[in-house]
Amino acid sequence: MSDKEEEFKQVKKVKEALNKVSPSFCLAKWIQVTVHLQNGFTHSCHHPTPHKIPLTELSQDPSALHNTVAKKIARQQMKKGERPAECGYCWNVEDAHPDNLSDRVFKSSEKWANPYFEKIKNADPLEPVNPSYLEVSFGNECNFRCGYCSPYVSSAIMAEHVKHGPYSMVGGYGIDQLKESGHYPYGKDEFNPYVEAFWKWWPDLNKDLKVFRITGGEPLLNPNTFQFLEHLKKHPMPDLDLAINSNLGIPEKTLQRFIDDIKFITENKLVKSFQLYTSVDTYGKNAEFIRFGLNYDQYMKNVRHFLREVKDAELIFMCTYNVFSVIHFSKYLEEVTELKLQYLNDKGWTRVHLDTPYLKDPVYLSCYILNEQFWPYIEKDLAYLKQNALTPQGVQLYYDHEIGKFERILNWLKGLSESQHRDGNRILFARFIAEFCKRKEINFEDYCPDYLDFLNYCKSLDSQNT
Ligand code: SF4
Repeated sequence: MSDKEEEFKQVKKVKEALNKVSPSFCLAKWIQVTVHLQNGFTHSCHHPTPHKIPLTELSQDPSALHNTVAKKIARQQMKKGERPAECGYCWNVEDAHPDNLSDRVFKSSEKWANPYFEKIKNADPLEPVNPSYLEVSFGNECNFRCGYCSPYVSSAIMAEHVKHGPYSMVGGYGIDQLKESGHYPYGKDEFNPYVEAFWKWWPDLNKDLKVFRITGGEPLLNPNTFQFLEHLKKHPMPDLDLAINSNLGIPEKTLQRFIDDIKFITENKLVKSFQLYTSVDTYGKNAEFIRFGLNYDQYMKNVRHFLREVKDAELIFMCTYNVFSVIHFSKYLEEVTELKLQYLNDKGWTRVHLDTPYLKDPVYLSCYILNEQFWPYIEKDLAYLKQNALTPQGVQLYYDHEIGKFERILNWLKGLSESQHRDGNRILFARFIAEFCKRKEINFEDYCPDYLDFLNYCKSLDSQNT
């Protein structure tokens, strides 16, 4: 039996075991959590919409960052075989075919989840539990103003939002509404009860943690990230898989401090593994346009600097494939290939990985709006990935899951039909670009000349429409 077949057999066994407890039982509801400390939202797992953590609950127990009453009720429902409505992502998959395996099964099979099966099965669902997988954002400090990001995730976008209000073509929340809905983030120098609760909870929380990922904002601009790294130097966690996201567009001194810390932590084996997740969506000026604030050449220098100095770490390019990723993606892939080949671990495996989820929201910046004239670019890049999967020396550069994820984008695009909805989003695209360039005080042609024809086509749809 191949490894893949064996893995599949194990996952099916987990499905049977889960269903014996109840057909809606899922370990992720107990032990996987993402907490947005900048405004006090939480969700388990990452699929359900985050909900607000009541400060009244937090004042009694800092673990309410994870164990809110709302989550305990969802766990109770799962134990009884009822389906929490917030988990619709999985119910849709399971209802499509009885043999389908949803994330309920995949996540419950993970090494951070499955060993806790019996403990969770026998636990009172209303009792608090510590997560083994925690993702946290300490704040929204960020120096980038990416086209698809939000004010409560980036302080730079928030400043723009304060000045200009929400984008007029799509509406959205103004400052007052952000405040009323509880989404408005705490400021950098403001007392934040959610961050305070995190550090109060930490001495108990860290005993059970297997995976810890720090996101943002830009985590390296938040002092809590460095506070955590300092803490780690004195209190090693040798069973922990640690990951940090970064745009790597930070000041040189901050980057060097980060590199020095991670070098010390990995060389002294203070954690089990370290992964740096870093975002860039395509090559050169197109990348600088959509991730506004990025300096592409400096970014690639910083990537090399990290890989050169920190030898026992992996780097994952998070490429949120969007409307501007397509035309020059081949040049970006050439750089990724070169890096993959240059930075190998002591087993001869590459330390550089590529992840290509495609942008879904906002739809008007997604590849959804492109038409078939763009397919040849993606087909060519897919062929490139396949051709370069294995070097003549036998080094695996692109794994099946990396190629498969990219191929999914092409298959998805080819399966779309033309509709009024797509044209509607093309019109929104044209209007968004006009407002985006005005806010950034830039000319579209200076960044994306190869997309000018497409933009004009979208503008013409808009003028036909009015
Ligand atoms: S049932 Fe699905 S959506 Fe709900 S927590 Fe589990 S994996 Fe996440």
